[in-house]
Amino acid sequence: MIDRIDIAKYSNIVVLTGAGISVPSGLKPFRGPGGLWNDIDILKYATVEALQRDPAGVWNFANYLREQVNLVKPNKAHFALAELENSLPSHKEFTLITQNVDELHQKAGNRKVVEYHGSINKTKCSNKKCHLQPYKDTHSSNEMPRCSLCSSPLRHDIILFGEDIPSDAQLRSSSALRKSDLFIAIGTSGTVYPAADFVTIARRLGATTILVNLEDIEEGGTMFQQVYLGNAEEILPELFGV
Ligand SMILES: [Zn+2]
Repeated sequence: MIDRIDIAKYSNIVVLTGAGISVPSGLKPFRGPGGLWNDIDILKYATVEALQRDPAGVWNFANYLREQVNLVKPNKAHFALAELENSLPSHKEFTLITQNVDELHQKAGNRKVVEYHGSINKTKCSNKKCHLQPYKDTHSSNEMPRCSLCSSPLRHDIILFGEDIPSDAQLRSSSALRKSDLFIAIGTSGTVYPAADFVTIARRLGATTILVNLEDIEEGGTMFQQVYLGNAEEILPELFGV
C-alpha cells in the first residue's frame, strides 16, 4: 500500500536518483549481473589512471556508453518526477540530483537537475588547465578527437573512478539539502554514498525521508522513514498522485 505524499505540505523538495530509475528504460546498470560494465572493464577504462595511460581506450569505452544511453527513452518514473516539478507553484523549490549520466530526466522535462556524475552527452578537454568549456555532444565516434585549443585528448564529461564530484554539483546539492523538508532517494541503495550522507543531512534538519528502490536495504539500518521496495515506474506515479 502506497500512501500518496501530501506534496502541498512541503516547500523544499530534494530528490536523488541512481541507476535503478533508468533500468526500466532498458539501460543496464553499470555493475552487477548483466551490467553494462563488468569489473574488468571498469578497472581498465573507467579510471583516472586509464585516462592518462590510454585516452583513446577510455574514449571508445565511453562512446559505447553514449550510444547505449541515446538508444533509450525516459520511462514513467522519469515522467512522474517531471510532472511533480512542473506542477509545483513557483515559490516552492525542487532540486533533482542525479547520479545518472544519461540525461533522461531532462528529456522527460525536469528543469532543475544537478548532474552529480556529469553527462555522457558532453565532451570536454582532458587537460584540466585548458580553457575549453565542456560542450554538448551527442555525436558517436570511435575516433578520439583532440582539443582545438591545446591538442590534448578530449574526453566525455563523466566522473571516472578516482575523480572528485564537480564542486559546482556538490555546492548545489548541499545548499538544496540544507533547506530540504522532503528528501526522496530513488533507484539507489540507501546505505551507500551519496544517499546515506544526504539522508543523514536531511533527517538532521527534520525533513521527511523516503526511499524507493528495487532491492531491500542492507544490514545496518537506514535513516529513511518510509521505504518502498519495487519498480519506481509503478511506485512514483502513485506516490506523487500524477
Ligand atoms: Zn584543451
